Amino acid sequence: MSENNRLIIFDTTLRDGEQSPGASMNLTEKLEVAHALKDLGVDVIEAGFPIASPGDFDAVLEIARQVEGPIICGLARCNQEDIDRAWEALRDAPRPRIHVFLATSAIHRDFKLHMAKEEILRRAVEGVTRARGYCEDIEFSPEDASRTELDFLAEVVERVIEAGATTVNIPDTVGYAVPSQYAAAIRHLKQNVRGIDNAVISVHCHNDLGLAVANSLAAVREGARQVECTINGLGERAGNCALEEVIMAVKTRADYFGLDTSIQTRRICPTSRLVAHVTGIQVQRNKAIVGQNAFAHEAGIHQDGMLKERTTYEIMKPEDVGLTQTEFVLGKHSGRHALRARVQELGYHLDEGQLQQVFEGFKTLADRKKLIYDADIEALAETQVHSGPALWTLDSFHTSDGTGTLPMAAVSLMHVDGRKLQDAACGDGPVDAIFKTIERISGIVVKLRDYQVRNISVGEDAQGEARVEVEHNGRIQRGHAVSTDIIEASALAFLQAINRLATRRQPKLNPQTETIRAV
Ligand SMILES: [Zn+2]
Repeated sequence: MSENNRLIIFDTTLRDGEQSPGASMNLTEKLEVAHALKDLGVDVIEAGFPIASPGDFDAVLEIARQVEGPIICGLARCNQEDIDRAWEALRDAPRPRIHVFLATSAIHRDFKLHMAKEEILRRAVEGVTRARGYCEDIEFSPEDASRTELDFLAEVVERVIEAGATTVNIPDTVGYAVPSQYAAAIRHLKQNVRGIDNAVISVHCHNDLGLAVANSLAAVREGARQVECTINGLGERAGNCALEEVIMAVKTRADYFGLDTSIQTRRICPTSRLVAHVTGIQVQRNKAIVGQNAFAHEAGIHQDGMLKERTTYEIMKPEDVGLTQTEFVLGKHSGRHALRARVQELGYHLDEGQLQQVFEGFKTLADRKKLIYDADIEALAETQVHSGPALWTLDSFHTSDGTGTLPMAAVSLMHVDGRKLQDAACGDGPVDAIFKTIERISGIVVKLRDYQVRNISVGEDAQGEARVEVEHNGRIQRGHAVSTDIIEASALAFLQAINRLATRRQPKLNPQTETIRAV
């Protein structure tokens, strides 16, 4: 395939995807996802928005240092401070990219920025020039491009390319575009911007009308050669363009698109599961490509056709997206080697110490249940990934309840500084009593927004997974944990959410004066 037939895949799960409420990840989790994205074969990883918070800065810095292969990109508003900070985070990356954005639509110019067109043009050029002083790979995004007057958009794009932008991204920031109109905008740029061939045209679509993938593909037909997307379509509101859908559309309809990507499609399902686990945001069952039912043919007439010839109803093979037909089962006598291999196949990158922990957890679990399934191994591996800065750990707990008695819980928590704190409380049930006790000890009182328990594999001895979603000072945080004891799983999930609330640092910017959510 020639360069012109190659579609660049820009993943922004860690930046735009992470802006989704409650999807925030700690550094360990971000690194895990970044390694998985590298294995998946994405060309560019947008690792964060360095000036937005110290956590974002650290994530970009560490990913730039540790994840080799893809281009590592950091986002910046079009001002000196942002661009300098982005470069500070990216400077150790073998292939850094600074992504600068500035809104261009009339509504943003008038109500958000209070800048005239000339001012926007001047700032855009200044920003790109400054970024270009640091590295050669510069992306510029006119925010809200899809609602920007076409002639002005063309002018901005021309000027930033002159100033040295190597990728120009045309974001549909608010998910307003429809495919034919969005395609026409790309065509307009192709035809009217001097020097357009000196930069890659990129698209970045939001899914507010359910059209993010359709819009992206329409733009690709007009010559856009970079698609910005996220795993599982993760993102604020209705989410971003889903990576897996774009990839499988381009691959399945190679006859129509004639494009190639560097994505290892067999890594799609493992990466999707990893992101769902790490963020706690599950994929809907009927989601294209990665949903649980995406390849399930239930209708009798379909099954009959499938048995005679698969292609009668199947346009893709489940194994092409990494959906394994037979589930791998380990038992008590499985060795360290088999476990390590399975952990790696499931997409986790654990070091020796972490693998040892997983192995010990596996042995303990094998004493409690006969067969160990992938879901059990994922749960063990995740515990390692999640083991970020935990302020509190569960030392022990005891609950009592029953018909006609008052449900009570006694909990002992260890603080990271070595203190052991104990307390007890009553509740509507044992789980409620535990949550109340943890709130009393930690001093963090939350509103429980959601609480779910489900089994993660099959059989009477299956492990239970507890998920909680809590709200504290307007911030949403999720936690999840797995155990053969659902009360223990519930306590651990709740504690994880509390720990995340306690350790997550506040954004540096004042959201009243400047928006830090972008593009
Ligand atoms: Zn976006």
